[in-house]
Amino acid sequence: MATSTITLMLSTKFTDKINQILPQTQCKSCGYKDCHAYAQAISEEKENINRCAPGGAHVIQQLAEITKKTVVTLDSNIQATDLHSTAVIDEQFCIGCTLCIDACPIDSIVGTAKRMHSVLNSLCSGCGLCLPPCPTNCIEIVPLNHAIEKNKPSSLKLMRLSQNKRSELWKGKYEIKQLRKEKSSRDHAQKITNDAVNPRLTQDKAKQIATAMKIARKRLIVASNT
Ligand code: SF4
Ligand code: SF4
Ligand code: SF4
Repeated sequence: MATSTITLMLSTKFTDKINQILPQTQCKSCGYKDCHAYAQAISEEKENINRCAPGGAHVIQQLAEITKKTVVTLDSNIQATDLHSTAVIDEQFCIGCTLCIDACPIDSIVGTAKRMHSVLNSLCSGCGLCLPPCPTNCIEIVPLNHAIEKNKPSSLKLMRLSQNKRSELWKGKYEIKQLRKEKSSRDHAQKITNDAVNPRLTQDKAKQIATAMKIARKRLIVASNT
């Protein structure tokens, strides 16, 4: 096996080991698109080990051990977050726009277009990524205990999983969502290609555009005469 292939395999293995230490909320607060990307930057010695806010001191300690670096405090530019928190939606203000569903990296919001949405508190990591896109500001982050008090016993089991199990669950959910997004982009690209090579469809589209332009011109004439 070529030396470059062996180096790549070792580096991938090391990245995976680092990734296993990270909490897997996929919250981006480290400045990377997901936990794996941050793990890769650490393994390539391109990044410090103190950028994971949800992981806090415990994760920094473990990262220091595996990379043989000195333990440092959390980067002061990064806001500390709590893994024992969750999002809740004030349902009376939810307009069902689905933007929070798109933003959630681990599929912990349920709801359909124009219907009220709810957070699956047993799954939610409290990462806060669903807050900025919400047009009505009806989502807030609360301590997990508040949600536990309100939830049914069936969801308590999930909420009380060990942190390792929660991280495994979040990682799995994130990977499934990524695969779904990739498939959807592929399907979309394929549809564009099919439309482009389908002359009948192209003719129909051209006709539709011509009709729409005709109507718009007529409306303009009517409007300018009134
Ligand atoms: S959990 Fe930590 S490593 Fe993962 S995305 Fe958030 S800050 Fe980055
Ligand atoms: S519901 Fe919001 S806070 Fe909870 S995991 Fe999803 S994006 Fe993060
Ligand atoms: S982004 Fe806000 S308004 Fe839109 S569905 Fe989610 S909670 Fe409701």
